[in-house]
Amino acid sequence: MAVTVKNRTELEKMRRAGSIVGACHLMLREAVTPGVTTGEINRLVHEYIVSAGGRPSFLGYPGPVPFPASTCVSVNDEIVHGIPGARVLNDGDIVSVDIGVIWQGFHADSAWSYPVGHLSAEVQRLLDVTEDTLYHALEFAIAGRRLSDISHAIQSCAEEAGFGAVRKYISHGIGRSLHEDPQILNYGLPGRGMKLLPGMTFAIEPMITQFSYASRQLDDGWTVVTLDGGLAAHFEHTIAITANGGPEILTRQE
Ligand code: MG
Ligand code: MG
Repeated sequence: MAVTVKNRTELEKMRRAGSIVGACHLMLREAVTPGVTTGEINRLVHEYIVSAGGRPSFLGYPGPVPFPASTCVSVNDEIVHGIPGARVLNDGDIVSVDIGVIWQGFHADSAWSYPVGHLSAEVQRLLDVTEDTLYHALEFAIAGRRLSDISHAIQSCAEEAGFGAVRKYISHGIGRSLHEDPQILNYGLPGRGMKLLPGMTFAIEPMITQFSYASRQLDDGWTVVTLDGGLAAHFEHTIAITANGGPEILTRQE
């Protein structure tokens, strides 16, 4: 599949999808507290998306079994693709909530990791570094740069902090499909791959681990956890490459 450049109308639809995703995350800043279940988080987000006129990108997403929820909710050592349910969040947990929305045929996708109650300084540092890694990577999402400049930014930022950059799951193009070309590794040498052009749209999503980046998938066919049981964080924005300067963040939380 060729990498697509979006026109003004398509970008506007992605902007609308992204604004719903961003508003969901704004809501979760308040909603994520000790005692809430992952299923409750999913219900809140699902209801918000539908009430805003969107559709959840993840519900029924093809896999070993179709994904059964509207959000991925991944707790502590779960890196991505956690299935929300009866699990209760406890003080000191971290929870990553991944949200995708379709608006008039176009997707936006953003994950964010939240503290549950009070975190230790070391766990807070994992969240801070992962968020910083996302914004550092976005500094390379500039017309004329090459794709792997983003990859390298993610890996170097995570590793300089002593953390791991997950290899097996990647950043990606996005638009009419939730996942489209190009595939963007979250590690690698800079200066490789295609040149970035205005109108390209990507979901940039560092997944950063406390210790080793090695991961494994659980028997539910979806949930991915760290192999060593260390914690993991996940921050993701959908962005558009612009003609001048930095990227436009389509999933801003406002
Ligand atoms: Mg996502
Ligand atoms: Mg994504």
